[in-house]
Amino acid sequence: MIQDGAPRRPQGTPIPLSRKPEIETSQPARMEGASGTACIRTFGCQMNVHDSDRMRRMIRDAGYAEVNDYEDADMVILNTCYVRENAVDRVRGHLGELVRLKREGRVKKVALTGCIGAAEESQELRDQYGIDLVLGTHNTYELAKFVGLPTMLETFTPELPGTEGERSAFVTIMTGCNYQCSYCIVPSVRGRMVCRPVENVVEEVERLVAGGTSYVTLLGQTVDAWRDPSGNGKRFCDLLGRVADVAPRVWFTTSHPSNMEDRTLKTIGEKQSIVKRLHLPVQSGSDRMLKVMHRGYRAERYRRKIEVFRENVPDGTLSTDIIVGHPGETEEDHEETLKLVEECRFDSAYVFKFSPRRGTEAAIMGEAVTPEVAQRRFMQVLRAVERGAFERNQRKVGAEEEIYIRHGQADGGKLIGETWSGHAVHIAAGASTVSPGDYVRARIQSAGPHVLYAGEPIA
Ligand code: SAM
Ligand code: SF4
Repeated sequence: MIQDGAPRRPQGTPIPLSRKPEIETSQPARMEGASGTACIRTFGCQMNVHDSDRMRRMIRDAGYAEVNDYEDADMVILNTCYVRENAVDRVRGHLGELVRLKREGRVKKVALTGCIGAAEESQELRDQYGIDLVLGTHNTYELAKFVGLPTMLETFTPELPGTEGERSAFVTIMTGCNYQCSYCIVPSVRGRMVCRPVENVVEEVERLVAGGTSYVTLLGQTVDAWRDPSGNGKRFCDLLGRVADVAPRVWFTTSHPSNMEDRTLKTIGEKQSIVKRLHLPVQSGSDRMLKVMHRGYRAERYRRKIEVFRENVPDGTLSTDIIVGHPGETEEDHEETLKLVEECRFDSAYVFKFSPRRGTEAAIMGEAVTPEVAQRRFMQVLRAVERGAFERNQRKVGAEEEIYIRHGQADGGKLIGETWSGHAVHIAAGASTVSPGDYVRARIQSAGPHVLYAGEPIA
């Protein structure tokens, strides 16, 4: 069954490719002489995955061994997402299970961190499920005391470096958001925008590359709104150029159409090391709805940005976010969205049914769209994206591509990779011995709406 927000084509982000919302990750890493065991579950976007990496370092510093299952853990940390209601429902399910395990004496401590932790609803959850520690996104450093570290070794400011020494790494260049979109809880839970200085980011990327990282993803809620905090006039395009000169492979997410400069789109086309994929959320094709949502641009401006992208990056891929069923959305507004989808020929899209978030403007707006209508619109948008993506993907069939391996292993298994154009590719592994981080050449044999399929790597 297709879910809200299901991507139309798995995107080559360094998180599990096929699912953007509500991903759950936990990685095993046993430590010798550890004094206890801990399990971290991550829900949500790349920012949350990155925050979990930081917490992971903290629990390891405190001598905990990381385990995969709640049953094996003395301490459980749920690092959460609050963007849509179903994310909270899923966390409630996990909390229910943890109450049982605590009662049985298996799990001793539970911490709730991330975006739910920063929301009002967290107090209700704390009382209902007996959570031991609730932390928002700004005071995650308090986890240090909870895990028994003598001092706050971590500060969780945006200056803090990300995970080092891995093949692909996230680098947060800004936190928070200065927009106030009608439906969105992010500004309340993540605060206003804070940007890292350019030199600080470049130094981190250099260090990561020296440690073996071959793929860097620059992260932020509105990554293209980045400005150097020193007031030297440097903007996102300058930072992207600097990073692209240092890292072998670079991508960035998420951009806001109002901040996307033409010169950034040109840079994507010019710099060899930048993956030619643009994620530019549009949310709606109707000017009326874009105004209600406070998006700050009209559909025409968005279309123009896409034209510039297509001109400068002809082989590039384009993805977007679309919300259907926002309060007040009429059939005409929906038609406008379908029209925009046809015209922009997205390679993939995350389509979301509107989910009211307490504390946002849209949650108390009248003119609610019925669930049946929202479901129909959701499917129509999804199908429209899929049709366009399928057609575009056919053009790749027969091409020989250089593919970056992201997941999977050889010995007959399936390899999942990404082309320079940003297409996700499933490759027949055959007898090849390649691993994540390697590049292979392979011929595209067929294509679906979400993914390309390639034969065995060419020697
Ligand atoms: N900053 C990005 C932007 O403005 O394009 C988006 C970040 S937001 C965390 C990710 C996506 O979740 C949004 O683009 C939007 O489509 C979706 N979203 C956010 N709040 C939502 C809500 N209340 N209901 C449904 N979808 C929502
Ligand atoms: Fe939310 Fe809008 Fe900010 Fe994106 S730009 S994080 S949708 S408030």
